[in-house]
Amino acid sequence: MTIPTSTAAPWRVRVLTLFPEMFPGPLGASLAGKALARGDWQLEAIDIRAFAEDRHRTVDDAPFGGGAGMVMRPDVLDAALTAVTGGPDALDRGRVVCLSPRGVRLDQRLVRDLAAASPLTLVCGRYEGIDERVIAAHRLEEVSLGDFVLSGGELAALALMDACVRLLPGVMGNSAGPSEESFEGGLLEYPHYTRPAAWTDRRGVCRTVPEVLVSGHHEKVRQWRAAEALRLTRARRPDLLDHRPGATDRDARTVCE
Ligand code: SAH
Repeated sequence: MTIPTSTAAPWRVRVLTLFPEMFPGPLGASLAGKALARGDWQLEAIDIRAFAEDRHRTVDDAPFGGGAGMVMRPDVLDAALTAVTGGPDALDRGRVVCLSPRGVRLDQRLVRDLAAASPLTLVCGRYEGIDERVIAAHRLEEVSLGDFVLSGGELAALALMDACVRLLPGVMGNSAGPSEESFEGGLLEYPHYTRPAAWTDRRGVCRTVPEVLVSGHHEKVRQWRAAEALRLTRARRPDLLDHRPGATDRDARTVCE
């Protein structure tokens, strides 16, 4: 069987890390892995340590001002970044993102932007983080996965890439998929059900699927899903309703009727 290859230029990502062996990691499996093998996207992991010049290949040092932990040195990271992007003034440097808990929170809108940005460079921090001056000198965009602290940027970079890759043309089997998903319309997604239509759980409770879903009435299914999406969003993430693109009160009333 020949595997169809997308005609679009592949999405190119370069990851700067102290742990290049972590890539592609989980992105080598499943749909992302198949897309990688097909050449729909390209991933290059660059070992920051290769740019350290001393005998011990030192990449970190103690923080000025004292305190716990170590900080990634600006000179080593600068050499790595310049080799990869051509430096802050290179016309073809693309977007250069540093994963950091201080960054703007990653959301589906930013994921969509980054999936359209090629080449994309991701910088993974370790220890206490990276020297502030290299962030300024290379105008790094700081992006956070959420309000928690990971021990390194690698898992954040993998999560970011996974979210982007599934948006690339031809990667998801069902191309209609992502447009209906959580966040795409500014709402959480409606609940899903599959066979069997009546399922008895461990406590002996028979759980059926909502009647409308087995009715075969497509318009009613659509309305039910829209109403459920709105109900779930109101209950769990009312903040999303305030920022919904093109949302009006009328939409909300229509789906609630
Ligand atoms: N001392 C820092 C945390 C450093 S954690 C602070 O308190 O802000 C080490 C590295 O893990 C960071 O440099 C960053 O690259 C990564 N990291 C940790 N949490 C992250 C998050 N929520 N999102 C993205 N990257 C994160």
